[in-house]
Amino acid sequence: MGLRELGEFGLIHRIRGRVRPGSGVIQGIGDDCAMTQITPGWTSLSTVDMLIEGIHFDRSYTPPYLLGRKSLSVNVSDIAACGGVPRHVLLGIALPPGIDTPFIDQFMDGFLAVCDEEGVTLIGGDTCSSRGGVVISVTLLGEQRPERVVRRAGARPCDLIVVSGSIGDSAVGLQLLRQGERDPAHPCIARHLDPTPRTRLGLILAGECRVSAMIDISDGLLADLGHILTSSGVGARLDTRAIPLSPLARSEAIRIGIDPLVPPLTGGEDYELLFTLPPSEERSLEPISRELSLPLTVIGSIQEGEGITLTDGDTPISPPRLAAGYDHFREVHL
Ligand code: ADP
Ligand code: MG
Repeated sequence: MGLRELGEFGLIHRIRGRVRPGSGVIQGIGDDCAMTQITPGWTSLSTVDMLIEGIHFDRSYTPPYLLGRKSLSVNVSDIAACGGVPRHVLLGIALPPGIDTPFIDQFMDGFLAVCDEEGVTLIGGDTCSSRGGVVISVTLLGEQRPERVVRRAGARPCDLIVVSGSIGDSAVGLQLLRQGERDPAHPCIARHLDPTPRTRLGLILAGECRVSAMIDISDGLLADLGHILTSSGVGARLDTRAIPLSPLARSEAIRIGIDPLVPPLTGGEDYELLFTLPPSEERSLEPISRELSLPLTVIGSIQEGEGITLTDGDTPISPPRLAAGYDHFREVHL
């Protein structure tokens, strides 16, 4: 069935029929506003991210199921970066005439699968037609005890800089997709199309570990570390040899003629967590890493001053030819 036959309200009805009741929901889809209850005394965390066809995704190589997953995962990653618990979500979608019902159904399959995995309930949204491409806007609400919320500001000189998992894989995956590779099981492509938000890690770091600042890597290590540094009024030294790039991302980068340092430094969309903590807390990393089966790698330290000094172990090096992460109004990437 096409969207013309289904109509706006038919589509909303179809979405509503698939949503399971969730905790804290007083009124979900169906009224002028959703009504929710947050845990008394906790701070509400709100984040919105838009995904625009042609800017953030290309429908020719993005299966609708994975697009649905990623639309929510990138928002969950922002809540994780504040150490929060994701809870309720609003979904805005604008669809051009060519979109059919299977596209929407598969998109919702992916979106609702991540809702289940993350304990999030869809409580409302907006549905429109589009004269351009597909536009998705996801607003995610989460919460955390006020004293546990972790911000970008808070990094202090001598703090260690730590990153979870491996970074650069997603940018290599994107480059492979742009060059015509289509295997969704290729680990770099999978990382790009279906990133894993580090919700559990964010919660543990906020609760059990004295992390001083945190951000998720959406725009590349240099840009996102830069955000921590400017918010905190400090500088940093980064040991490029310590940056956790997976062996496959390294070999694929070399194969397609990219300096292997460029994807992790400027690529973005890894959705790993980047955080700082005092050196005395370093010993708490090992048990957390073991519990989550997720590497946590110290890649540098916070310094007085400003800016990022790249080093090769001890010696400062000049950066490879880099763009500065993704800036929507400058259109630079890799
Ligand atoms: P209004 O005109 O008051 O904005 P709508 O007709 O747009 O109401 O929406 C009716 C209900 O359906 C609202 O509860 C709204 O939150 C929900 N809704 C609309 N679009 C979506 C969507 N894409 N996903 C989830 N809920 C939606
Ligand atoms: Mg509306």
